[in-house]
Amino acid sequence: MFRVYNFAAGPAMLPESVLRKVQQDLLSWQDTGTSIMEIGHRTATFQDMLAKLESKLRKLMNIPNNYKVLFSSGGGQGHFSFIPMNLCGKNKAVDYIVSGTWSERAAKYAARYADVSIVTTATLSSIPAPATWKLNPDAAYVYYCPNETINGVQFADIPEVGDVPLVADFTSSILSDEIDVSKFGLIFASAQKNLGIAGITLLIIRDDLLDQAQACTPEIFNYKLQAEQNSLLNTIPTVPTYMMDLMVDWIINEQGGIVNLAQNNRRKVAKLYACIDNSNGFYTNTIEKQYRSLINVPFTLPTEDLLKHFLVEARQFGLAYLNGHKLVGGARASLYNAMPEEGVDKLIEFMQHFAKKYAE
Ligand SMILES: *Cc1c(COP(=O)(O)O)cnc(C)c1O
Repeated sequence: MFRVYNFAAGPAMLPESVLRKVQQDLLSWQDTGTSIMEIGHRTATFQDMLAKLESKLRKLMNIPNNYKVLFSSGGGQGHFSFIPMNLCGKNKAVDYIVSGTWSERAAKYAARYADVSIVTTATLSSIPAPATWKLNPDAAYVYYCPNETINGVQFADIPEVGDVPLVADFTSSILSDEIDVSKFGLIFASAQKNLGIAGITLLIIRDDLLDQAQACTPEIFNYKLQAEQNSLLNTIPTVPTYMMDLMVDWIINEQGGIVNLAQNNRRKVAKLYACIDNSNGFYTNTIEKQYRSLINVPFTLPTEDLLKHFLVEARQFGLAYLNGHKLVGGARASLYNAMPEEGVDKLIEFMQHFAKKYAE
């Protein structure tokens, strides 16, 4: 069967072994005689999977006991609004670190429910030094996006924000490396990048933040009510949750855990940046080295015409969806956990060949 290396930013590539498992479970899941697409969210089999998924995540990410793990819908962008709704019942002052397109949009959406202050704004190639940020020590939270999927900008370190709860959109970087959960008030990640397929959002929230919702918060998106009902306030998206479970199993059983995975990820992306930097300017990535994303690698070619040829010829070579986001143009290679090293090697081989052919 023909499969391409899928470099899309999301929904993203899934491991073949996971897809094969889905194929089996499509007819009958766990000897229930019921498809995973038919199984009820309140059946013992499903609830058992959900409980085990939570405990696997707790272990894998070392999530402290005073944090709740929630499975919510609404996608990443839904939580751009649900976060200020849930956290600003007592205090509407919030700080946003704008490092790219996603955090900028999160700040815009939050402004409807909170008094947003922009702490700093990234330039096209870097993030201003933390010493220049205007942090409010009385803010309800500080928000940031550790990895800006569209711009290819990533924070190497967790920002220091004192006692103010730190809220982070880990949609494109969750489980790609170790994180110290205890440094955060709230972590969220929409699933379609590193956690399976679209339709579910993982939310990790510190207990003391659960009781701060504004009156306008819809019941279904009230984190406290969700926590009380183990994310089963209404019909949880069953298949996306099951897919997250398969992805977590894949990390544990086939990737040797997060430390090993993170090492592989760093090796994969270092090769790609080396290819770009050693192309004599044929390919360019202008992000300052310390802020370069280890996951989403945007780059440009000398002309729009060459970019068109690049995308077409790459596709013929089995390398797909290398186009950049429509807001920034150019090309982009997303190297999520499921992208094997062979895929990156093949991309580099193609890029070198292409540059040789077209550079005058
Ligand atoms: C993809 C992405 C989103 C958008 O998620 P949706 O589920 O489509 O709303 C938000 N934030 C980041 C960092 C992303 O990469």
